Amino acid sequence: MNPAVRLIPLGGLGEIGLNMMLVESGDDLIAIDCGLMFPDDELPGIDYVIPDFSYALAKRQGFRAVFLTHGHEDHIGALPYLLRDARVPVHGTPMTLVLVSDRLREHGILEADLRTMRPRDRVEVGPFGVQAIRVTHSIVDGIGLAIETPAGTIVHTGDFKLDPSPLDGELPDYRAFTELGDRGVLVLCSDSTNVDRPGHTRSERDVGESLAEHFARAPGRIIVATFASHIHRMQHVLNLAARFERQVTLLGMSMQKNVALAAELGYLRIPEGVLRPLDELTAQPSRDQVILSTGSQGEPNSALALMAAGEHKYVQVEPGDLVILSARIIPGNERTVGRVINGLYRRGAEVLYEGNAFVHVSGHASQEDLKVMLNLTRPRYFLPVHGEYRHLLGHARLAGTVGIPSERIFVLEDGIGLEVTATEARVVGRFPAGRVLVDGKGIGDIGAVVLRDRQILANEGLIAVSIAVDAEGRVVAGPEIASRGVVYVKENEALLEELKAAVAKTLGERDATVAFDRAIVSALVRTAVRQFINQRFQRKPVVLPIILEV
Ligand SMILES: [Zn+2]
Ligand SMILES: [Zn+2]
Repeated sequence: MNPAVRLIPLGGLGEIGLNMMLVESGDDLIAIDCGLMFPDDELPGIDYVIPDFSYALAKRQGFRAVFLTHGHEDHIGALPYLLRDARVPVHGTPMTLVLVSDRLREHGILEADLRTMRPRDRVEVGPFGVQAIRVTHSIVDGIGLAIETPAGTIVHTGDFKLDPSPLDGELPDYRAFTELGDRGVLVLCSDSTNVDRPGHTRSERDVGESLAEHFARAPGRIIVATFASHIHRMQHVLNLAARFERQVTLLGMSMQKNVALAAELGYLRIPEGVLRPLDELTAQPSRDQVILSTGSQGEPNSALALMAAGEHKYVQVEPGDLVILSARIIPGNERTVGRVINGLYRRGAEVLYEGNAFVHVSGHASQEDLKVMLNLTRPRYFLPVHGEYRHLLGHARLAGTVGIPSERIFVLEDGIGLEVTATEARVVGRFPAGRVLVDGKGIGDIGAVVLRDRQILANEGLIAVSIAVDAEGRVVAGPEIASRGVVYVKENEALLEELKAAVAKTLGERDATVAFDRAIVSALVRTAVRQFINQRFQRKPVVLPIILEV
């Protein structure tokens, strides 16, 4: 029999955020990324959303390593929660690992096995040979991965764009992708975020030129807000300040921290004498001042939001000031960002943002770049990743236009796996996957109900599902369902029958070759109930699986 490899997405396929993909060969397993997602208004009282790790934890004996593509929160943010339960080695590039250790320290995890990996490095773990490939993105030191498995080579792009003139000269490694294509790529997993955008994504250098024009014309103080992880954008601002003989103050803890870390590792060059503490800066004429700040998403307590509201202790925005929001406005944040923009205008500042000026470029590949990636790697099978369903589907269609046969393209969502041999691919699953809600630093124990805000319990209700299983994990009684505050049982007998059937069906689809595991069965039950209730009622009740072994 041909050896098979399984790709199991635990997050990031069906949403932008909580990226995590398992690669499984025999009893061995590695994970690509381990990210979080920030919750939307639907989840009051919740700080983060992280992937459901139960499958990886159930297989922890063979869980060899985590490989990180880059340091964005949607790729590293859930690591502290994973490492609490599974002390696996973590591989990543220097900048990624610096951001990771910072995050781990915040969570009180002082000993982790972090292993530096540089582009073109190759690491052997179990049956896998993992090679890092340089890509460009909106954070420095990003990589894609080529994973040799007994079944063939899997290429995962990570988040990428093809920037032909990156600020640090670290070009995407076209040659590595081409060589892989020549040798034969079994599966390509590629970033779908910007599949709706025609053409090529512009270079980070172009933004620099546009910012330079605004710097040249600004009569007074310049305030630039961007993401603290966007080292190259910050590099532009520092360079421009030096060029126009201005000085810069950094506002925001993460901004100050990342500038220090990046400078120390050599990813950021701070022109001499350009950085100044705030009190020294504000003592200068306003035309000499630059403030580089966080808060580009209108976060209520950020320096920028306080300035816009006239509540910042030391900085009063005034006519003549130029404020540049040099970042994408993340969908869902339009209202809070709008409030900040209005406030800044009201104080007399001029405001430039994505909607009215060229002050930002994306870190993700557009259609033509995505086609280049497909053409360089020429994969046998294609699995679009990193996107909502519409992005994944759009990317699947795009792959069709460059000649990948539709039966070799798989649009999958979290918890649905792909099993591939050298000549065949089939969809397998379902695997436990779902959004685990984190309130503060506590998460529910795996297998028990996840910790949620009381308000959700009150608003969304609770559903308890009990089943009895035998030693092999076969369901011998149930599922029985009890509900509080979700549906009124007496009037909804038929619906409850449907829910029971949905749970039974999911359990029936459980991979019988995998030994019975309470945590996995619980997670499957939770996923099935949540999906059912969410589809019917758009609600997210707490689901409590009760599993009796008889
Ligand atoms: Zn990213
Ligand atoms: Zn991402």
